[in-house]
Amino acid sequence: MKLGIFSDVHSNLEALNAVLGRLEELGATEYLCCGDIVGYGPDPAACIRRMRQLPLTAVAGNHDSGVLGLTPISFFNAVAREAIHRTIGRLVEDEIGYLRSLPLTAERAGFRLVHGSPSAPGEWRYVLSARAAEEELAYFSEATCIIGHSHRPLVVRRGPGGPARAMRRQEFDLEPGTKYVVNAGSVGQPRDGDARACCLLFDSDTGAMTFHRVSYDVGAVQRKMRAAGLPEFLAARLADGR
Ligand code: ZN
Repeated sequence: MKLGIFSDVHSNLEALNAVLGRLEELGATEYLCCGDIVGYGPDPAACIRRMRQLPLTAVAGNHDSGVLGLTPISFFNAVAREAIHRTIGRLVEDEIGYLRSLPLTAERAGFRLVHGSPSAPGEWRYVLSARAAEEELAYFSEATCIIGHSHRPLVVRRGPGGPARAMRRQEFDLEPGTKYVVNAGSVGQPRDGDARACCLLFDSDTGAMTFHRVSYDVGAVQRKMRAAGLPEFLAARLADGR
């Protein structure tokens, strides 16, 4: 089986469709998402509708939680707050209900999913280094935990005998007896200097995990954001992936 894995869609329908198109081409038949379906971008309702069509296991992110009022609005910076307010006005009750249905953590196909950190799923902590990831290893029983939140791809592995190390590889195999924390990067607002949408493909037959970057029409999304009156900073950053 091939699994499509992604995170942080952020209401960017063009990026979501591009990623799903690529993952389907590559043979994905099921999907995992680590949250933040909404926030920042112009198409929250359409992204939720698209996600609901998929054979998908998803967890909630801090922006999903912010839209529901479950994470206080004071947690967010000014542009994120502005986008959350605009998102609330664009969703009908049924779509809000979908966001409310998302758990903070999930387990599927041997993977743990959480938006921020497995040690404190509702506190939205960032795991940015091998050291931070190593501290998280005790908080999940599966071999691999997939996270999001930072919008930066990261792979940390700890083999038998340790210690945990970050790997800079586009492609790697999940090895038996080894634990991993994998940040899936971001579909809708990458922040690693590469503006293309980010996703992963996992092949359960071979154990191979591969990052993919997918181009999409950034200009079209920026035009929609400006037309919707979303903060210019949020539109501009999509072009340089920072
Ligand atoms: Zn996010």
